[in-house]
Amino acid sequence: MRTASRLLLFLCVLVVPLAAQETAPPPRTTAVKAAHLIDPQTGSVLDHPTVLIVGGRIEKVGPSAEIKVPPGAPVIDLGPATLLPGLIDAHVHLTGDPQHAGYRALGISVPREGLTGAKNARRTLEAGFTTVRNVGAGGFADVALRDAINAGDVPGPRLLVSGPALGITGGHCDENLLAPEFHYHADGVADGITAVITKVRENIKYGADVIKFCASGGVFSKGDLPGSEQYSPAEMAALITEAHRLGRKAAAHAHGTQAIIDATNAGVDSIEHGSLIDDAGIAAMKQHGTYLVADIYNDDFILGQGKQYGFTEEMLAKERMVGQRQREGFRQAAQAGVKIAFGTDAGVYPHGWNARQFAFMVKYGLTPLEALQSATINAADLLGWSDRVGSLEPGKFADLIAVEGNPLTDVTVLEHVKFVMKGGEVIKDELRK
Ligand SMILES: [Zn+2]
Repeated sequence: MRTASRLLLFLCVLVVPLAAQETAPPPRTTAVKAAHLIDPQTGSVLDHPTVLIVGGRIEKVGPSAEIKVPPGAPVIDLGPATLLPGLIDAHVHLTGDPQHAGYRALGISVPREGLTGAKNARRTLEAGFTTVRNVGAGGFADVALRDAINAGDVPGPRLLVSGPALGITGGHCDENLLAPEFHYHADGVADGITAVITKVRENIKYGADVIKFCASGGVFSKGDLPGSEQYSPAEMAALITEAHRLGRKAAAHAHGTQAIIDATNAGVDSIEHGSLIDDAGIAAMKQHGTYLVADIYNDDFILGQGKQYGFTEEMLAKERMVGQRQREGFRQAAQAGVKIAFGTDAGVYPHGWNARQFAFMVKYGLTPLEALQSATINAADLLGWSDRVGSLEPGKFADLIAVEGNPLTDVTVLEHVKFVMKGGEVIKDELRK
């Protein structure tokens, strides 16, 4: 009797999954149609396109006359709109808001930052940014946010996250606003070669996809100078080598001229900000194929509204020093042929405004197509995700957006994304009301 019931149990365990497999529905098929589709690789425009999506990935892209949509599959027809791949911002801080600037930041807990991140993840996705790289978050709040988005608990873009940014004691990536008796230092502080290697390993242990470090001083910190190098070349080389050894890319916050050169020569994958770049820095970045991720929009916001958001006078003074200089440096670097990836430092200004930077990139030297490439194929390359995002090609995630008008003649249409799809799921649709 006992043996028989055991046998029955065994059969149930064996048979039930098989039966479930047999009845599992086939992967969902959807078609998206519009008037135009832009290929960011070439800038070519396909008229009357159909994108066929199976199981959240792109199956086929081509003229509607040539793409056969299986009977019964839903067709999303976006009429006169233009389709593009979902946009990518390679430098955001989803767990931060501008109203948490300066001393106000000290009262915000890590759990609260996580919830702020959930709000901003949704805003960013609805603005058309279906992938973002989060470079710097305390307490691994960005790892938690990434995991919650991947689990389907909260809506948001695909996230590549760094956890706490590495930095020297008292540097830009430390927290310098508290008096000594608080004995506080930020999560990412590590001094010396052994300590930076350990910190890289620790960040990866707790879920970091990328390593972010502060090579120079910064604007939104107390008592340091954006132009000064902070990590030594030897410390940078050690932490970048360790990141690469463990299969992660490294991003350097670097405003200062020497920090840009030294981080680049140490093999960093991207220079963030790059404000005080000179000819030697441009030459080094070209030689190494290093990406420049320059947040050239937010100066207007910080100087215009920073005071009311709580940025200290020291921070505003530093922004006045580097803001416009950064835009000129961006123009020189872009004209010299340095690789550009789109990154805005959203969090310093309100999330969801990411696309406002496109117009500034065009004003400071890029063509509209180059600006679009920076937020699609280039950013995907920097992230190491060219196999999954950045263009509308078979096998990639069905992450796509639609706009009214032509972004190749007017990039500001990207500030008003009307339709967003992530992984084949419609996130926003203002075209078919
Ligand atoms: Zn930043």
